[in-house]
Amino acid sequence: MENVRDIVREAGAEIGECVDEHALDAVRVKYLGRKGRLTLVMRGIGKLPPEERPEMGKAAGAAKAAMTRALEGRLAALKAKAAGKHKGVDVTLPGRRYEVGRRHPLTVVTEEIVEIFAGMGFAVAEGPEVELEYYNFDALNTPADHPARDEQDTFYVSEGVLLRTQTSPVQVRTMERTSPPVRVISPGRCYRNDTPDATHFPVFHQIEGLYVDRDVSFADLKGVLSCFARQMFGSGMRVRFRPDFFPFTEPSAEYAFSCVACGGTGCRVCKNTGWLEIAGSGMVDPEVFRHVGYDSEEFSGYAFGMGVERIAMLKYGINDIRLFYENDLRFIRQF
Ligand SMILES: [Zn+2]
Repeated sequence: MENVRDIVREAGAEIGECVDEHALDAVRVKYLGRKGRLTLVMRGIGKLPPEERPEMGKAAGAAKAAMTRALEGRLAALKAKAAGKHKGVDVTLPGRRYEVGRRHPLTVVTEEIVEIFAGMGFAVAEGPEVELEYYNFDALNTPADHPARDEQDTFYVSEGVLLRTQTSPVQVRTMERTSPPVRVISPGRCYRNDTPDATHFPVFHQIEGLYVDRDVSFADLKGVLSCFARQMFGSGMRVRFRPDFFPFTEPSAEYAFSCVACGGTGCRVCKNTGWLEIAGSGMVDPEVFRHVGYDSEEFSGYAFGMGVERIAMLKYGINDIRLFYENDLRFIRQF
């Protein structure tokens, strides 16, 4: 009995000195483990004379209960102390860094293009992205059975309403509310039902140019696009025009710049042709003038378009259009 009281007293003192859970567990093993001091006492009860067994059993049981309570109490106290440590402000921690935003490469290139044309007297005109079928197709002399009107190519919002497939409707809207001379460029977002790949994305950006006045000729168009090419890509740039067909221009021409990578000698970028096709252009079709009430006998004009992604890809040597839309900071930070 004396022995049991000693064990309880010593265990109590040791539990009180424990500063962490690890030390506490060592004390538990020392007294209550398989070969613990109290465990050995309890095992020895069977060897005592029968009349001493009940009293000894009772004392040992009480000792074990007391010891378990002391262990649990100390453990709870240690946990509470540890939790308390994390409260409040730790002024030694380093501060949080916030990412600094910057302009998207497409915004940078758009602004650069706008600035070049502004220098040649063009004003910026903008129009809605959700557009009437009339402005996107009818007024641009695109017949009702034209494949571009198909739902496979165009996102329709409802009957007669669509996401514009080009920035050309802005031309019509501008001519409707102003009389010649008109000299505008219209940058903006366009939509086509394309499957994304390295050169296609359902959302893209176009810049459309329009100039209408008396005696505007194809030579003016060539001059303005050559001037743009040299300002955008360098003084050695040449521009090539080849006959093409678009519903809203007549005559029409696709135009190409000499390859920005090889200068025209032929390389992988230009598929050894020395030329990079940019987009379409031409003299505004009299049928388009008729829709907006301009006299095609008195006025003439040219129109051209270009893809902002295409220009940006050539300027920065980017080989996949999808990179513009993934918002990967490692990509965007480079501009
Ligand atoms: Zn080349």
